Amino acid sequence: MVAELVPLKDLHKMDPVFGQVSFDDHEQIVFCNDKDTGLKAIIGIHNRVLGPALGGTRMWNYTNEWEALNDVLRLSRGMTFKSAVAGLNLGGGKAVIIGDAKTQKTPELMRKFGEFVHSLSGKYITAEDVGMQTEDMDTVHEVTPYVTGISESKGGSGNPSPVTAYGVYMGMKASAKYKYGSDSLAGKKVLVQGIGNVGVTLVDYLVKEGAIVTIADISESRLQEVAAKYGVQIFTGTDLYSADVDIYAPCALGATINDDSVYKIKASIVAGAANNQLADENKHGKILQERGILYAPDFLINAGGIINVYAEIEKYDKAESLRRTENIYNTTLEIFDYAVKHNITTHAAALTFAQNRINQRKKEMQK
Ligand code: NAD
Repeated sequence: MVAELVPLKDLHKMDPVFGQVSFDDHEQIVFCNDKDTGLKAIIGIHNRVLGPALGGTRMWNYTNEWEALNDVLRLSRGMTFKSAVAGLNLGGGKAVIIGDAKTQKTPELMRKFGEFVHSLSGKYITAEDVGMQTEDMDTVHEVTPYVTGISESKGGSGNPSPVTAYGVYMGMKASAKYKYGSDSLAGKKVLVQGIGNVGVTLVDYLVKEGAIVTIADISESRLQEVAAKYGVQIFTGTDLYSADVDIYAPCALGATINDDSVYKIKASIVAGAANNQLADENKHGKILQERGILYAPDFLINAGGIINVYAEIEKYDKAESLRRTENIYNTTLEIFDYAVKHNITTHAAALTFAQNRINQRKKEMQK
């Protein structure tokens, strides 16, 4: 992630929009303001070659507007590649709402945001992200059809997290197959960092398969709850990254593979749900490769959620969502092969797969 190279405090020194380090030929950036509801949002449309730009809305108490802009640019670009590599006919988009989701989010604000989404006539389709719940998407749906992730009772696909977890599990099994010659995770020591919506379902799959699971989280109550339910160990050491495990599954925050952690990791596989795990995708991807650690690209194996919401557009059922998500296993293996063949990192290989699909579609459109 290029943006990490520029300290957030220095972002304002760059040109306001097109000069931002995370700007990557985005098609359109929309600034939304409404005095009455206090809405301040930015919608980023990165690329629509494969289809409408779909991506979640994040509500976050950003330190300043530069940080919010940087986030929407970076996240919308990520969505382009995530959907492309997952084989979906979707482009990349994302929205950020500046504010505290706990105290500033109101139905009026969400409806106003929905009106801005609607004004783009379907170029951008929104969904849930950090700070959003399924009910918020239901509120947005009152004013626009360009929203996914609405409640199952209202005809939507519901909570995408369990499907995301299934895809991560598939990506992890493919990684084990590649690294150890068998995709069985039985007896493998797996550290799951972050046992939220996705992490906990991943723990469930792992425990059922007989993996030896250790969990880490900043929430002590959550740790106790999950440890008691699944009989897994809680990480108690001082340095999580040097834990003696086979597989490290980042399922909390991004950028956990950084200058500090990258040389400490003892695991031989990194496979998790968090977005943007590599603080610097080129540098840290390369170091993992040199250290013989197999990295399952985040945007490849965490695509179950977007596959699940895409069902609302393509009108397929849960079984089909799971079938498509299961295919992450095969794609992951293909990408590992491609990386070895071309002597590039697995992250670069996944990006190449995604870019090739976009280029191919562009060519077809020009015919
Ligand atoms: P969540 O908010 O439900 O869970 C995150 C968990 O991480 C929480 O339990 C939190 O306490 C914990 N956490 C936060 N900071 C931590 C830290 N420093 N160390 C350890 N634990 C920490 O989120 P989620 O929906 O489970 O998503 C997890 C990750 O996967 C996020 O990065 C998200 O962007 C990504 N992701 C989620 C989906 C999805 O469908 N939910 C899809 C794609 C990617």
